[in-house]
Amino acid sequence: MDGQTITAAPVLILLGPPGAGKGTQARMLEEKFGLVQLSTGDLLRAAVAQGTEAGKQAKAVMDAGGLVSDDIVIAILRDRLAEPDCAQGVILDGFPRTTVQAEALDTLLAENGQRIDAAISLEVDDAAMVTRISGRYTCAACGEGYHDVFKQPSQPETCDKCGGTQMKRRADDKAETVASRLEAYHAQTAPLIGYYDDKGALTRIDAMGDIGDIAADMGAIVKTATAR
Ligand code: ADP
Ligand code: ADP
Ligand code: ZN
Repeated sequence: MDGQTITAAPVLILLGPPGAGKGTQARMLEEKFGLVQLSTGDLLRAAVAQGTEAGKQAKAVMDAGGLVSDDIVIAILRDRLAEPDCAQGVILDGFPRTTVQAEALDTLLAENGQRIDAAISLEVDDAAMVTRISGRYTCAACGEGYHDVFKQPSQPETCDKCGGTQMKRRADDKAETVASRLEAYHAQTAPLIGYYDDKGALTRIDAMGDIGDIAADMGAIVKTATAR
């Protein structure tokens, strides 16, 4: 930006369809690089659980597998980004999901003297995404993600991270909703791959492989992007 040296904290974006592994990889990057994962899905689910005005408006749309309105999501993200821990650098997981959100993010970052260090697109085929979503569950205490087949805790029903024994499944991770979410992804979010490619910020990752292999690829990209 303008040739100035920018020392601002890193900003990374994870793009990819529902179930691609964004949350899984974001948590690993968070641990490895001390960045903060910002998941608009998690923020919206918290708003729904707290019964805030935004949460009330978002709930029906989320249950139907659509995208929550840009105004609501941008406001939630803006507030979260202003919290002090985000000064360490952030991984945006599930935001932006529309061109309007991407433009709002550009404006927000410019106001803070920040920029996007990398937009990483996790590429999976639609069939894999359905398999991943249908087996997904998380630890109710710490949010660690698991999968019935691909990522089981070492002891059944016990979280490897925190020892919690209550696991939960998302209401929208069911076959009827997955088709709508996939449709929303292709229509409204996939165009962002071109948006970031045009800015020279895009890296594509083959996300069909093993979680650990993908994490290694991601780590290398983040190192390069944040060393600039
Ligand atoms: P997203 O945040 O993109 O929706 P998640 O990170 O929640 O996706 O992953 C969806 C499900 O797939 C989870 O159950 C997770 O454990 C599992 N998963 C994540 N990455 C992989 C992978 N590379 N191979 C197999 N399963 C994966
Ligand atoms: P996944 O990665 O599996 O799609 P998320 O947890 O990211 O799930 O999102 C869950 C739901 O929350 C989405 O289906 C959508 O309704 C809503 N949502 C999350 N992030 C956004 C966003 N940036 N814009 C609009 N809706 C969003
Ligand atoms: Zn846990």
